[in-house]
Amino acid sequence: MKGLFLHLIFIAIILPMHSQTNKLKTVFELNQNSTATYFETISYYETLEKTFEDIQVTAIGMTDSGHPLHEVIISKDGVFDPQKVSEANRLVLFINNAIHPGEPCGVDASMMLARDVLQNSIPALEDVVIVIIPFYNIGGGLNRGSFSRANQNGPFAYGFRGNAKNLDLNRDFIKCDSENAKSFTQIYSKWKPDVFIDNHTSNGADYQYVLTMISTQADKLEAPMKNYLNEKLEPSLYKGMIKKGWEMTPYVYARKTPDDGIAGFLDLPRYSSGYAALHFAYSFIPEAHMLKPYNERVQSIYAFMDLMITEMKDNKLEIRETRRKAIEAAKKKDLFHLNWDLDKENFELFSFKGFEAKYKASHISGKERLYYDRSAPYTKDIKYFKYFKGSSSVAKPAAYLIPKAYKQVVTLLEMNGVQIEQLDDDKFYDVEQYSIGKFETTPVPYEGHYLHFDIEVEKNSTRVKFYKGDYLVSTNQDAIRLIIETLEPQAPDSYFAWNYFDAVLQQKEYYSSYVFEDLAAEILEKNPALKAKLDNKKAKDETFANDGKAQLDFIYKNSPHYEPTVNLYPVVRLMKLD
Ligand SMILES: [Zn+2]
Repeated sequence: MKGLFLHLIFIAIILPMHSQTNKLKTVFELNQNSTATYFETISYYETLEKTFEDIQVTAIGMTDSGHPLHEVIISKDGVFDPQKVSEANRLVLFINNAIHPGEPCGVDASMMLARDVLQNSIPALEDVVIVIIPFYNIGGGLNRGSFSRANQNGPFAYGFRGNAKNLDLNRDFIKCDSENAKSFTQIYSKWKPDVFIDNHTSNGADYQYVLTMISTQADKLEAPMKNYLNEKLEPSLYKGMIKKGWEMTPYVYARKTPDDGIAGFLDLPRYSSGYAALHFAYSFIPEAHMLKPYNERVQSIYAFMDLMITEMKDNKLEIRETRRKAIEAAKKKDLFHLNWDLDKENFELFSFKGFEAKYKASHISGKERLYYDRSAPYTKDIKYFKYFKGSSSVAKPAAYLIPKAYKQVVTLLEMNGVQIEQLDDDKFYDVEQYSIGKFETTPVPYEGHYLHFDIEVEKNSTRVKFYKGDYLVSTNQDAIRLIIETLEPQAPDSYFAWNYFDAVLQQKEYYSSYVFEDLAAEILEKNPALKAKLDNKKAKDETFANDGKAQLDFIYKNSPHYEPTVNLYPVVRLMKLD
């Protein structure tokens, strides 16, 4: 009896402590081959919010799934306002999770990190505010199964890559088709983070590392950030991860096998890191390797984020200053690269820990197939091509003028924090205007679009009338790179490339040949220069000389009857402001 009494006292004392500890254990910690669902994730952060002072959890915007996007802010003394955070001289680390819900290591690692920071085992909150998107692709997260990542080693169940509209959100940052991206853009622009991390799981070759990492393309950054990233931040992250027991490699973007060398990743603005770079953030994509056990993948991502917090705390001034100087440099610059090619002449040697790539007969086809022999590890220097060269460039105008018909484009720019004015009066402007020349288009839809690429333009000086209420976007502002890369149609992720201006590519009026024949004859009679041009073309081009319809069309297109707006890009470049 006495024994039972003591036992009950023991349970009464121990149980509340035990349940408190258990309450703060994550789904992953309770079963290391499992990842939290969307609802479990949000509920966990809400529990942290009830337990600790320095965390705020807010349902802040909509997503295509109909469920809200949540923002988690972890900030000392409950300073949750971006303006006050900036005044308190703290850096902002922005962490995005489950953009690809089948790659959920970041979801589970961020939950543990948030708890540990709040429990003060990572004493960095004096200097760093952490903003977490706990679960970005909610629609994909709710579409849960165990098979869509065919080659992946756990967790047991996970979400799907496409969102509720089957969009890959890691292609949606600049075009913003999804409600998720629209909400994200507004949260991101509000915080203007110093460092951005988007957590993923890799595919591809096998090697010894659990974690690989994509840094944003340094050559696309202005010198102060490029130099700091290349010379200090990146080397320090690689060294720091060795110390933490999670030595990592640059993302293994290999032609065939890593033995042939690995290439850097050109992070266009459609991708998270490329998008963050437009806002002058140091951005990183940790990619945990798909074949490594789930618990190791989560722990390595945790270690990377933990290390980043320390880096930010230890190098607060340099990170802030290099960003400020880069923004100033961009604002003063006249020439901007729009396209980039991998520099195949320029590489570094990276001491790579791989597994031998070998070949054997396939059970399926009998043909030779590749495999990586885990019993044959090696360390050898491989070529790492990390540099890119600008392949086309454009001179910065003083401003762009956008007709009010393109409000959708203006809304996207405004969501990104771009300052835009409306014209007070109708007025003529001397401007440069592009005529869209040759371009290619994807033959099947890519992320919901017939994306244009290899776009050529012809630039003309002209005088155009703009009207009261039309938009003027000055290039003298912090968002200069975003403005140039979205409004210059030749840029690979321009709004033109993403079909926002497709209607200008279609001719609206035509002619009836049998009627136009007589008119064409009159036109030629009155215009000997055009007649000479026609005769010259006939003399040089036999097919043309034998094609009556083509000749008629030639006259039409060189007459005042042909509409001047075909292929005319409606956003114009104002080279001088009054
Ligand atoms: Zn991914």
